[in-house]
Amino acid sequence: MKKRVVVLGSTGSIGRQTLDVMRANPDAFTVVGLAAGRDAQTLAQQIAEFKPQAAFCAAGTVERRVGGDTRILTGNDGITRLIGEVEADVTVVGTPGMVGAPATMAALERGQDVALANKETLIMAGDLVMRTAAANGASVLPTDSEHSAIWQCLRGEDETAVRRLILAASGGPFRTTTAQELADVSPAQALQHPTWSMGAKITIDSATLLNKGLEIIEAHWLFGLPYEKIEVVIHPQSIVHALVEFVDGAVMAQLSHPDMRLPIQHALSYPQRLPTYWGGLDFAKAPVLEFSAPDTENFPCLALARQAAETGGTAPTVLCAADEVAVELFLHGKIGFLDIPRLIAGALDGHASTPVESLDHVLSVAAETRQRVFEASAESSSSSARVVSQGKVRDGFPLSRE
Ligand code: MG
Repeated sequence: MKKRVVVLGSTGSIGRQTLDVMRANPDAFTVVGLAAGRDAQTLAQQIAEFKPQAAFCAAGTVERRVGGDTRILTGNDGITRLIGEVEADVTVVGTPGMVGAPATMAALERGQDVALANKETLIMAGDLVMRTAAANGASVLPTDSEHSAIWQCLRGEDETAVRRLILAASGGPFRTTTAQELADVSPAQALQHPTWSMGAKITIDSATLLNKGLEIIEAHWLFGLPYEKIEVVIHPQSIVHALVEFVDGAVMAQLSHPDMRLPIQHALSYPQRLPTYWGGLDFAKAPVLEFSAPDTENFPCLALARQAAETGGTAPTVLCAADEVAVELFLHGKIGFLDIPRLIAGALDGHASTPVESLDHVLSVAAETRQRVFEASAESSSSSARVVSQGKVRDGFPLSRE
């Protein structure tokens, strides 16, 4: 039987790659629901191609006539209603930020598996998400490439035999940049990721290494291991995605081209493996695979993420929300690259963490933090901080994106 799939964030990078997997495997999957942010035109094309039962566009209008038999949902809670109205086996969450959090919880509450490509939900509300999944017999399927790699390395293994998980990081475009040069890098430079093609927010997070810090927290929730057993290694080629070391010293690694379609497909086809139409690795022509320790001095975001992780409670929410604002300000040329960790550190220092009570609690802490960081950035840019002027400034400021 075909797996029925809902794709949230269908016009974004993860969503488009998910639909590519759907397109390549029409006998394995059927798309039953689509949700997008504001790209109504692309959504309309996707509706015409995949003919889902229902679709939702948050900030654009999809004319009913393009839908055919597809129900076009509207309203603020449209994305959550989509989950409630459509019978699905798996929901792929590729929406950015916290937009997909209520829908993720709704899917898990219905007992549906969730392929979580969005990190923020797990980072801000990991305990809540994992408990909701367990209570409803649903699974959170690792879809981030590193976590998919760990998941694959752990198959058939006794998890008590794990000594440590090692997440691979490319090091981003500034791996060899000096601290002095980092102060002046532009958004355009930061958006040039050496190996992965991704959305703007995650590309900047890769450049600051915060992305890897967020992935430590993500791994903690997905695999139930303490933070001291989760490490990071710099691997510029992005061929090894993660490694698992067992108590006997054996290390398993997962290798593949840096292509998100593989982890997405693996999450959807699990426990089966399906062929892919793109080529595998050619070891006769394999590049040298390099590994080194991360530079924690030039990239303080890694340590900030660990600090938030170990504090727990609402601290990871503050980490995420502060970063969201800082990255947006950087992309708009309002602050410098090194102001990103500075704003995050300030937000964490000014926050007294409390235990996470509910998703609403998390969302209100996030909103509060965003406001606080926005104000802090305005204060410092009017006094001491240097405002970067180079790079392309996008339209739509303040703080809007897909
Ligand atoms: Mg990743």
